[in-house]
Amino acid sequence: MVTKRTEKMLGRYRVPTGKAFRLKDFDPGDTAGLSLEKDHAADLLQQGVDRLAELQDMLYAQDRWSVLCIFQAMDAAGKDGAIKHVFSGVNPQGCQVHSFKAPNAMELDHDFLWRHSTALPERGRIGIHNRSWYEEVLVVRVHPEYLAGQKLPPRLVGKSVWDERLEDIAAYERYLARQGTVVLKFFLNVSKAEQKKRFLSRIDEPEKNWKFSAGDVAERGHWDAYMAAYEAAIRGTAAEHAPWFVVPADTKWFTRLVVVAAIVQALEGLDLHYPKVTKAQKAALEGARKALG
Ligand code: ATP
Ligand code: MG
Repeated sequence: MVTKRTEKMLGRYRVPTGKAFRLKDFDPGDTAGLSLEKDHAADLLQQGVDRLAELQDMLYAQDRWSVLCIFQAMDAAGKDGAIKHVFSGVNPQGCQVHSFKAPNAMELDHDFLWRHSTALPERGRIGIHNRSWYEEVLVVRVHPEYLAGQKLPPRLVGKSVWDERLEDIAAYERYLARQGTVVLKFFLNVSKAEQKKRFLSRIDEPEKNWKFSAGDVAERGHWDAYMAAYEAAIRGTAAEHAPWFVVPADTKWFTRLVVVAAIVQALEGLDLHYPKVTKAQKAALEGARKALG
């Protein structure tokens, strides 16, 4: 169960709608006053993971709602680790992870939502999108040459292209919500200093070398442009039915705790339950018991 304390904590990171959102109001190093040892944060995280597994079982059995968890972040903010830990208790049959990289030629031949929409979760499932349609207003905004590669008719690409994309994303998320998809969006908010530390440890520690990419350092050079793009994206698409959470990401255990709590809270709001057995079905079950001898 989500406690009052957790609810209050989540309130700090859920982006309010209808207000001017500013990224600088959110501290990447925040841990809501919790300490790993004193507050038994590892136990809290495990409780969240277990509760998520219970809720997911009902979600699957009920087969009505679907859940889309979107993860966005700068490199090394901990998307992969958060996904690995938060969903560690969930039945693999009930969830699907998709990682979105730079689009291929076939994907570029379609509208930008196409490749994402084919990866949406079925009813009863949790879809985890490691990067998402938001890349279209983040990396593509920071690198206009990517937009040029999208083969759009030139007259459709004007000054307001980013606002139009945000409007389309917001409209699509509202449509999904009306179709029974719970959309939850997480921006793992890592600081520039912490990113540097994590890149250095990827260079220094042989078992982490594989995670390092020189391209990530180049992207770091566009930090301010990314932050401006994130701010505009979050501001333009935060909604009651598709909330954004700006999750402090300098402390890994805390990031995971906030993410799991947010998903548990959303699922607990759905009145999930196992399908009720009708009288006729009960009679059939009794018949089957007899037939078993
Ligand atoms: P990640 O960086 O998410 O941990 P990865 O390192 O395994 O994953 P990469 O090959 O770096 O995978 O792919 C992710 C890269 O693809 C990111 O730099 C991202 O910005 C880029 N990307 C995603 N969507 C798009 C898009 N629509 N247009 C251009 N680039 C995109
Ligand atoms: Mg990468």
